[in-house]
Amino acid sequence: MEQDRSSQSRPPHVLVFPFPLQGHINSMIKLAELLAIAGFKLTFLDSHHNHERLVKFNNIAAHFERYPGFQFKTITDGLPLDHPRSGNWFLDMFEVMELKMKESLKEVLVNSSPPVDCIIRDGTSAFALDVAKELGIPIIFFCTSSPCCFWVYHSIPDIIQAGELPINGSEDMDRLITTVPGMETYLRCRDLPTICRKLDIEDSIIKLVVKQTRKSLQADALILNTAEELDGPILSQIRTKCPLVYAVGPLHAQFNTRLNAKHGESYDHFSNTLWEVDKSCIFWLNKQPNRSVIYVSFCSITSTSREQLVKLWYGLLNSKTKFLIVVRPNSVIGKDGEGEDVVMELMEKSKDRGYIVNWAPQEEVLSHPAIGGFFTHNGWNSTLESVVAGVPMICWPQFADQHVNSRVVSEVWEIGMDMKDVCDSKIVEKMVNDVMVDRKEEFAKSAYEMAKVTNQCVNVGGSSYSNLDRLIEDIRIMS
Ligand code: UDP
Repeated sequence: MEQDRSSQSRPPHVLVFPFPLQGHINSMIKLAELLAIAGFKLTFLDSHHNHERLVKFNNIAAHFERYPGFQFKTITDGLPLDHPRSGNWFLDMFEVMELKMKESLKEVLVNSSPPVDCIIRDGTSAFALDVAKELGIPIIFFCTSSPCCFWVYHSIPDIIQAGELPINGSEDMDRLITTVPGMETYLRCRDLPTICRKLDIEDSIIKLVVKQTRKSLQADALILNTAEELDGPILSQIRTKCPLVYAVGPLHAQFNTRLNAKHGESYDHFSNTLWEVDKSCIFWLNKQPNRSVIYVSFCSITSTSREQLVKLWYGLLNSKTKFLIVVRPNSVIGKDGEGEDVVMELMEKSKDRGYIVNWAPQEEVLSHPAIGGFFTHNGWNSTLESVVAGVPMICWPQFADQHVNSRVVSEVWEIGMDMKDVCDSKIVEKMVNDVMVDRKEEFAKSAYEMAKVTNQCVNVGGSSYSNLDRLIEDIRIMS
């Protein structure tokens, strides 16, 4: 059933449809706003649950009313509205998502007026591709997680065929994986995405991820949140499978550049957060000396155990550095409310040394002069935000693409230290002292150089800036 999108003089209508998690929404909504600035009509299709939170914690109506063609629509994410969506809830979601979201997406598209000319989708995209093909609508896949991990996911069947997977129980985790083109010299077993640690290579999650990744290459084009200068060798590899690739990142930096150029530096940026931001930490940071504080924040999806948090905290306390830490509500797992109690207890002990918030204005924090390091889980957005701000990292990856990202940060870009697979207060203390004190100048210099190159990519004439212009033109032609 093809819709009639015959030539008309209206602007292209693009439907942006993110995977319903904070990291994905962040980049997708920024891309949507950039396309709205280019004069496109935009439909941002979010889950009911996330939209409610966006409305609760951000003034989205006031922000987006400046774009007359911008509208929000919502559909189910496949879970009941009162589902707690904490712990590993998103794993539950895969199974129900395809079934429930596919029908809702189709309904939105069929009833859309003017008709949708192009869909941009991230995350699990197979069902969206099927719907787009059925309705004859061009679809672009936006990989909001790291291109390196995307490439590893794509290579999993080759890694298995070469006998480099599965990883057996007594494995040397530092063994090099030689079958991912472009990463032969640095990718070790322990750096593979966490799904690769499964002993059973027939596992349904591995199969699902490989299927989704390979299918996403059937989209009409691929957008990547990186720059040629950051991930050049991997981009060359990905282009052998999908010729139409647009590297437009770091998107948040490109977004800031373009919005500042259009509206001026004082423009009130939309924070798109799903939690209430605690800005009091900025006042606390204002009182600290330059580059004296380490910012500590982990995944917006997973939880930390009480034991892990205590070890991390003592490492931080025993280091020579002050810290600002984010502990999301209900993100510490302990028996009978112990998780929350431990946060209060630790905070009491570290009043003079640390500051705690439930949710920080992260981009603002990272660009604050008092910040000298970022203790991060290496979600792709956080990694890029740190790169752009020129802040060295201590990497403590938890799952998904984060293990690959931390290897790139420490070994390829050399702007941080990798603490993966370890949670020991002595090691935390040593790494914090290395990055913030003993090897401070070395890390600060490499992070500064990296930031300089990266920020050039998103300025007029830079590679990512030009690639976004090309994407905008190609969508016009496509529709
Ligand atoms: N973030 C934030 N405040 C916080 C913690 C995180 O604004 O206190 C934002 C952060 O800037 C990033 C996003 O949440 O843009 C998290 O995305 P990322 O890809 O780093 O990790 P995820 O949480 O999706 O694993």
